[in-house]
Amino acid sequence: MKRKLAAFFAALTLILSSFGVFTACSVEKTDIVVSIFPEYDWVMNILGEKKSDLGVKLLAKSGADLHNFQPKSDDILAIAKCKLFIYVGGESDEWVDEVLAENPNSDRITINLLEVLGENAKIEEPVGDEDHEEEYDEHVWLSLKNAQIFVDEIADAIGKIDGENAGTYTENAAAYKAKLNALDEKYLAATEKAETKTLLFADRFPFRYLVDDYGLSYFAAFSGCSAANSAASLDTIVRLADKLIEHSLNTILIIEGSDGSIARSVIQTAKDKGYTGQVETKVLDSLQAATIKEYESGRNYLAVMESNLSVLSAALKVSD
Ligand SMILES: [Zn+2]
Repeated sequence: MKRKLAAFFAALTLILSSFGVFTACSVEKTDIVVSIFPEYDWVMNILGEKKSDLGVKLLAKSGADLHNFQPKSDDILAIAKCKLFIYVGGESDEWVDEVLAENPNSDRITINLLEVLGENAKIEEPVGDEDHEEEYDEHVWLSLKNAQIFVDEIADAIGKIDGENAGTYTENAAAYKAKLNALDEKYLAATEKAETKTLLFADRFPFRYLVDDYGLSYFAAFSGCSAANSAASLDTIVRLADKLIEHSLNTILIIEGSDGSIARSVIQTAKDKGYTGQVETKVLDSLQAATIKEYESGRNYLAVMESNLSVLSAALKVSD
């Protein structure tokens, strides 16, 4: 992999030196490069009315989730030249270190979200008898508390690359953080009224930060979210069906893009074991494969987290 990348960079350097003028123009406008959709949305909220003054590029913009994203040459060029680069910094971002090292830029500020969390970064928990390599949970954006920390950090960095408008960015960040905080309070109020504190995921599990924020417990088909885990064993199905029955749950959660087949097997198994409760399958949206097109048509972090709260409230049997 390393050797392949080195060859790639050598080729890239050659292309760059022959088309220097052209590339300088085409990447000039990219001041800020972000790796994932939530970071893009936060940056846009911080920029506010200054949105069109700074060029912002979202890397994973076409529906590849952060686990499968691979940078193209124009992505690497943008990172090389930008003033601010924001990324998650986990297992899936292993390519980043090399790109940064190969493209030194003393004017570039980098924000590694897992590093920002420091001691509060969480490890994925093993479930069942699954063989599990210890890894950080990269889905750091699925906590409204984390989001507020990140927004501060990002606003501070944008204020450094555009000092003239630093005050505006601080104000915009404060206004946006107030919305994040209000939604966090709504989650807290709902989860406090919940009849059950247990969630069941017949799927990969990217929500460790979210459940921990509100003291919820969960059972999941897989400990983490890596795409390699796609088929559930019979043991897993039976384990989840038993938990469904034991906790008298009415909802099985899956993540967006899932085909729901594990959920269907769990429900069938629970019925076969005599469970008579009504069970619905609902999607909790992890936003990990959201596209720039969806952003432009109104999908955004706050709206998705708001609709996740209704899903969660149904699953936790929150009464009004
Ligand atoms: Zn994931």
